[in-house]
Amino acid sequence: MSTPSEPNSPAYGRVLVKVSGEALMGSEAFGLHWPTIERIARDLVEAKDSGAEIAVVVGGGNILRGASVAGEGLDRATADHMGMLATVMNALALEKAVEHAGSPARTLSAIPMPTICEPYARQTAARHLSRGRIVLLAGGTGNPYFTTDTGAVLRAAELECNAVMKATNVDGVYTADPKLDPSATRYDRLSHDEALAKDLKVMDAAAFALAREARLPIVVFSIREPGAIAAAVRGQGRATTVAP
Ligand code: UDP
Repeated sequence: MSTPSEPNSPAYGRVLVKVSGEALMGSEAFGLHWPTIERIARDLVEAKDSGAEIAVVVGGGNILRGASVAGEGLDRATADHMGMLATVMNALALEKAVEHAGSPARTLSAIPMPTICEPYARQTAARHLSRGRIVLLAGGTGNPYFTTDTGAVLRAAELECNAVMKATNVDGVYTADPKLDPSATRYDRLSHDEALAKDLKVMDAAAFALAREARLPIVVFSIREPGAIAAAVRGQGRATTVAP
């Protein structure tokens, strides 16, 4: 067992990794890109092998987002139910990829569908984590009008994770959108209150408010770099840490 002073040991004992649906589609415009999913799965297993317990909340934006398809004859709540089902498909794919990469894994869904995966219960998730399984949390919060970012913070708080690791397309939080403003600079660290006062977009408003209330650190990093999840879990690599 490694000690915290060793370079490959985790900075956090139990983490919640948020993987957006878009991260799973790689270079495709829609759906699942298997080589990308395998790369992310290997990264998750490497993070676990450093000694951390890994829970993952998966998004669904590569398949369907409720707000984008609601309208005409489709009400928002039904559209969001469809979006949550998309996250279950992604979690099942990632579960298989994690198993292929060498770690046991379990998918737990906030919407019970026991013929496919286990229903989410806090104690069940905690037990799987303590037994060294990577836990894929599907179905977001289980309620419409929320996002998987909010699901990620909610699960991280109730499972007493040390941090939410938000894997995105950018390597942290910037003073402005770096795509629009070349002079934008990246924060290494800032507080929830600073992020709120400066109106920096770390997560959607509901997710961020919950993280602030729960005093939960959020680590924002780019999933495009190979090994980025494992590095973030070790407290290394380019990232912004939002912490009290
Ligand atoms: N969703 C929901 N409640 C939740 C989480 C997700 O209704 O608690 C639905 C919502 O329609 C959302 C979709 O699932 O658009 C996919 O989730 P999200 O947009 O957060 O995925 P990501 O952007 O991370 O890929």
